[in-house]
This record gives sequence, C-alpha cells and structure tokens, in this order.
Amino acid sequence: MDGIRGVELTPGPQATSDSDIEAFIRAKCGTSYHSAGTCRMGADDAAVVDTDARVKAVSGMRIVDGSIMPHVVTGNLNAPIMMMAEKTADRIKGRSLAPADAGYYRSPA
Ligand SMILES: Cc1cc2nc3c(=O)[nH]c(=O)nc-3n(C[C@H](O)[C@H](O)[C@H](O)COP(=O)(O)OP(=O)(O)OC[C@H]3O[C@@H](n4cnc5c(N)ncnc54)[C@H](O)[C@@H]3O)c2cc1C
Repeated sequence: MDGIRGVELTPGPQATSDSDIEAFIRAKCGTSYHSAGTCRMGADDAAVVDTDARVKAVSGMRIVDGSIMPHVVTGNLNAPIMMMAEKTADRIKGRSLAPADAGYYRSPA
C-alpha cells in the first residue's frame, strides 16, 4: 500500500503523541445526529438499565431509546430503536413473538 496510499490525511503526520490525537478527537469528534449508549443496557454493574430496560437505580422506571444501546450499531439508529421499543412493549405486556427465521447477510469472518 505504501506506493499508492499517499500521505496520512487525518489527523495528519504532525500528530504523533497521545495528546495530539486526543486534541484531534476533541476538536473533530461528533455524533452525526446519532447519539447512543449513554445509559447502556447490560447485566454488569456499570450498566444503567437491565436487560428488560429497567433503570437499576430507580424503581418503576424504564428507558427505551437510543441511550440504552450497549454498542453503536453499524447502521442508522431509527429502525433498531423502534425495534427495541416494540420488544420492550412486548416484555411489559408479558408476551413475546416467536423467533423469526428471515435470512440476513453475515460478513465472512
Ligand atoms: C437531523 C437528523 C437526521 C437523522 N437521520 C436519520 C436517518 O436518516 N435514519 C436513521 O435511522 N436515523 C436518523 N437519525 C437518528 C434518529 O432519528 C435518532 O437516533 C432517533 O430518532 C433517536 O430516537 P430516540 O427515541 O432515542 O430519541 P428521540 O427520537 O429524540 O425521542 C426523544 C423524545 O423524548 C421527548 N422528550 C424529551 N424530553 C422530554 C421530557 N422531559 N418529557 C417528555 N418527553 C421528552 C422528545 O420530545 C422526543 O420526542 C437522524 C437524527 C437527526 C437529528
């Protein structure tokens, strides 16, 4: 690749230290309007909501929005957030849909 890749564009060859890179991230990082994961779901102590979207530190409250995503998904957020809301509504009602067997693309490992 060295012969065809050209010079590093961002953050650029002048950024050589951790603090250079941190400064670049602080200056350039953004959400692209797809904020997620600030109250993440999980079974570990650091998670804010449990696997049924219940806020662990507050009784009787659930969060169902992009903030509970444990990881940022590899696509836009609207559809998975709607899916999470449908799924949690089913959990609240005590019902669950049968698993679907629709095909999907899985990238080769
Ligand atoms: C400009 C823009 C473009 C986008 N384009 C796309 C796209 O093309 N495709 C895609 O998949 N995603 C897109 N997204 C991302 C997607 O829209 C969001 O990730 C998603 O809507 C977030 O859903 P949410 O339920 O987490 O939050 P929101 O949709 O923000 O819902 C939060 C709701 O809570 C309400 N609320 C806030 N505070 C209170 C309060 N105190 N009391 C009561 N209600 C309150 C708000 O009014 C709002 O209705 C875009 C986002 C933006 C901003």
